[in-house]
Amino acid sequence: MVDTRLSDELEALRKTVAEFARDEVAPVIGEYYETDSFPYGIVAKMGEMGLFGLPFPEEHGGMGGDYFALCVALEELARVDSSVAITLEAGVSLGAMPIYRFGTAKQKRTWLPDLCAGRRLGAFGLTEPGGGSDAGATRTTAVLDGDEWVINGTKAFITNSGTDITAVVTVTAVTGRAPDGRKEISAILVPAGSPGFTVSKKYSKVGWNASDTRELSFSDCRVPAGNLLGARGRGYAQFLSILDEGRIAIAALAVGLAQGCVDESVRYAREREAFGRPIGANQAIAFKVADMEVRAHTARLAYYDAAARMLRGEPFKRQAAVAKLYASEVAVTNAREATQVHGGYGFMNEYPVARMWRDSKILEIGEGTSEVQRMLIARDLGL
Ligand SMILES: Cc1cc2nc3c(=O)[nH]c(=O)nc-3n(C[C@H](O)[C@H](O)[C@H](O)COP(=O)(O)OP(=O)(O)OC[C@H]3O[C@@H](n4cnc5c(N)ncnc54)[C@H](O)[C@@H]3O)c2cc1C
Repeated sequence: MVDTRLSDELEALRKTVAEFARDEVAPVIGEYYETDSFPYGIVAKMGEMGLFGLPFPEEHGGMGGDYFALCVALEELARVDSSVAITLEAGVSLGAMPIYRFGTAKQKRTWLPDLCAGRRLGAFGLTEPGGGSDAGATRTTAVLDGDEWVINGTKAFITNSGTDITAVVTVTAVTGRAPDGRKEISAILVPAGSPGFTVSKKYSKVGWNASDTRELSFSDCRVPAGNLLGARGRGYAQFLSILDEGRIAIAALAVGLAQGCVDESVRYAREREAFGRPIGANQAIAFKVADMEVRAHTARLAYYDAAARMLRGEPFKRQAAVAKLYASEVAVTNAREATQVHGGYGFMNEYPVARMWRDSKILEIGEGTSEVQRMLIARDLGL
């Protein structure tokens, strides 16, 4: 049976996060964007609310929910601000989830309680300066020397990797060659502050200005052999499955941004007058907003479907790619249209839609570009 209503529990979560975003994020987030600074206070509150622990069992310090609960929270946060939403998305989906899914009991004990509580953040270092889409082209290497991995290489654009509360970055590295000559890629946990691990200064970004994105370099960086995450040589398969899930979360975030554009446009179109009446009284504007709502709603259904398949244990790779591709393009279109509805004010940073416009573009790039999503969908269709 098709039923897209949220359960009472999820509806309560949605309302709580929506109120938090409206009351505690919206009034202050603009200042963090202006100064390109990380909102530690907001992240701490998100931690206290249990958002970083949503999809993890209580035994690891989580809330005992599931991945869909995370998506619902991401949507409501992104409806107001994408920086705090991506900090949560990356912290959970890229930071803690690989440890939960592939870690040993000791690794889980070491890292998950703080990551689930939002006291510390985790990050995932896959992309390199030489390329992100072709993730198998990893150049970073890790060589086992006695009981330590010695890591050399550089990672680019890594979210949450250089905050004061960053605890650990999982990096992919070439650890050898398979018998058929292909690269053996493994995932290794690198604690913040490890010798030989350097975090560069923040990038100057077009959007997501209140989130942390850094280049990381590893120069004879040594970590214990026990920091291998999952089986040696399984790093490639591991991150592919992490990214499949992550696409649903990014789709949820994109839907939030797209819906936020509707919220802001309705508000503005009712208030702003031109030619003696509210601009929303013109069908040219009203239809624009109606089309924005259509796109946000249909994109939401796409990510609900992908999440439902995932939770039922069915294949969901194609649906996750569909949801991510569609929702991110919807977000970009809605942000452009919302800016248009706002006229000149839409180009002013103090207006939320200006932030949404700047924040939207990365959704078509991060965690697999639109071209990569189309490649995945076409491949799954047998092309
Ligand atoms: C703000 C931000 C945060 C990020 N956070 C993280 C993070 O936490 N961890 C992480 O590992 N990475 C992160 N990334 C990296 C992101 O995932 C990559 O930027 C993305 O995967 C694209 O890789 P690239 O930038 O190297 O582009 P490229 O792979 O060089 O692609 C350039 C262009 O070529 C296209 N292209 C490439 N190959 C093909 C093909 N075969 N067919 C058609 N078109 C193709 C791409 O779609 C794109 O349009 C982040 C990036 C940003 C900007």
